[in-house]
Amino acid sequence: MTMSSTYDAIVVGSGISGGWAAKELCEKGLKTLVLERGRSVEHIKDYPTANLMPWQLPHRGAMPKKVLEENPLISKAAGYGEDTAHFFVKDADHPYVQEKPFDWIRGYQVGGKSLIWGRACQRWSRHEFTAPERHGYGMSWPIGYDDVAPWYSHVERFIGVCGNADGLEAMPDGEFLPPFDFNCAERHLRNRLRAHYRDRHVVQGRWAHLSQPKQIHLDQGRGTCQARNLCMRGCPYGGYFSSNSSTLPWALRTGNLTIRPDSVVHSVLLDPSGARAKGVLVIDAKTHAVHEYRARVVFMNASALNTNLILLNSTPSRFPHGLGNDHGLLGRYVCFHDYRASANGTLDGFEDQYFYGRNPTECILVNFRNVGERTMDFVGGYTTFTGGYRTRGIASAERVGSAYKDAQTKPGPWGLYMYMQGETIPKVENHVRLHDTRRDEWGIPLLVTSVGYDDNDERMIRDWRAQAKEMLEVAGCREVETRDNGQAPGLDIHEMGGCRMGRDATMSMLNEWNQLHAVPNVFVTDGACMTSTGNQSPSILYMALTARAANHAVEELKRRNL
Ligand SMILES: Cc1cc2nc3c(=O)[nH]c(=O)nc-3n(C[C@H](O)[C@H](O)[C@H](O)COP(=O)(O)OP(=O)(O)OC[C@H]3O[C@@H](n4cnc5c(N)ncnc54)[C@H](O)[C@@H]3O)c2cc1C
Ligand code: SF4
Repeated sequence: MTMSSTYDAIVVGSGISGGWAAKELCEKGLKTLVLERGRSVEHIKDYPTANLMPWQLPHRGAMPKKVLEENPLISKAAGYGEDTAHFFVKDADHPYVQEKPFDWIRGYQVGGKSLIWGRACQRWSRHEFTAPERHGYGMSWPIGYDDVAPWYSHVERFIGVCGNADGLEAMPDGEFLPPFDFNCAERHLRNRLRAHYRDRHVVQGRWAHLSQPKQIHLDQGRGTCQARNLCMRGCPYGGYFSSNSSTLPWALRTGNLTIRPDSVVHSVLLDPSGARAKGVLVIDAKTHAVHEYRARVVFMNASALNTNLILLNSTPSRFPHGLGNDHGLLGRYVCFHDYRASANGTLDGFEDQYFYGRNPTECILVNFRNVGERTMDFVGGYTTFTGGYRTRGIASAERVGSAYKDAQTKPGPWGLYMYMQGETIPKVENHVRLHDTRRDEWGIPLLVTSVGYDDNDERMIRDWRAQAKEMLEVAGCREVETRDNGQAPGLDIHEMGGCRMGRDATMSMLNEWNQLHAVPNVFVTDGACMTSTGNQSPSILYMALTARAANHAVEELKRRNL
């Protein structure tokens, strides 16, 4: 084992939340070490497919059968393809044990999943923080909307979020850049639903894209989004937010950041007092050499389930069942978003209209279920993503030859689609734990996932499908179809919980500043900290909570409380 130098702060993971921890801590003058298990990925330089045309990809973007057979799990992920696969893990390299079906989608590299995320960025409503307790399906958060709102603004201003201020209670407005406009089908849907229902609002996407960059974005070296919708390859314009294009280079510029790729964090180490972390143990991903790094504060940002894994694997004599885990709650109350149901229909008319560019955002049909009062036979709400598209060409019977090619040059009919993002209930039985005997290449126990759906999810899906069908018909669609794809939890890629925040230290792992109750110089600010799931896309909340916690850590260090 080698002992390396001591830092003020260690950040475990360089993805969406780790990048934010690094930025805030470095800006405040802390010498910060970011430990990342994956390889280095430099903005622009390491985006090998960013500017390739379909015919320049060996298989025109499709994945060869052999790759799909070798990667049955990761190849299910949204956006996985020949042009993006290098930013996803390979199945065989990173095994885990599914006690119940769970698709764990990961991107192990500097930047983590920030390179390949979908970029939807809605704020939580104030109801979402309180609904679990009010409606009896969970514990209340130790913080509310007003605690997070200034940090949402802080994050939105820096990353750049486009959208419209719609004044809706169920999805509060943020600090927006101009939205991408509706196309004619989407505007039609918005108008029809507005005329028919009092509670159904279709709004323009709130997405982390620089529709019209401000000085702070230009200062990051980023430019206007070109509406190419090739984002998951990495964007040479910095048009969407990723750690690689934004927070990490910003933190590097302070001179306070050290990034160490290929560094698998094994566990958090305690000092002899048993109440303070002294650093972390790292295994070099390539050489397997073991290093110890020390710091005054440790930020856990390895993504929700990996943070659970590292904490469960941190077993000093004071905490034989995992760091801060006196009550057996670590790894429990794992939850996710329900993405099982979708719908679409054909929309006649608008044949003389088309769209310009490739809008990289989607419209949002704001949650209208259980907002404030509970009115349904299920708890929680759902956000619906929706959009209008124009099909290309009238499919010719042969699908080959010049007739087919000609058909492809002519636009076909318009269509509308919808898919759900439903809240799920945090449950004690939905958990992750370490496998008793099986280890990975680095000697770390494999994670066991034991996470499933419940009756509430089934009732919500039934309602969503009925409502989606009705709304598409109200919009004038024909041949409306709804489906439940039955996908396993995890494929939503919004896994959360296991190390939840709470007021009561006997019922939760973290306090209102994301500090472990029992080891306060360890901060958990990725999805592991989530007390409940809400129905909004979660990453912007992780960023806001991370910035809030990092600033608190700096203040506590100044006061010598940590
Ligand atoms: C296709 C897709 C679409 C998505 N769409 C959206 C969306 O529209 N909106 C939204 O809000 N969210 C979306 N998400 C989810 C979003 O990507 C995650 O919520 C977000 O990246 C989580 O941030 P994080 O920092 O916790 O984890 P990550 O970004 O995954 O970063 C974690 C980092 O930690 C590293 N790490 C893991 N274990 C260790 C270890 N032991 N030692 C050292 N380093 C380690 C990983 O390699 C990784 O780089 C999407 C994700 C995908 C893949
Ligand atoms: S749509 Fe915008 S963010 Fe996405 S790749 Fe194109 S320019 Fe970049």
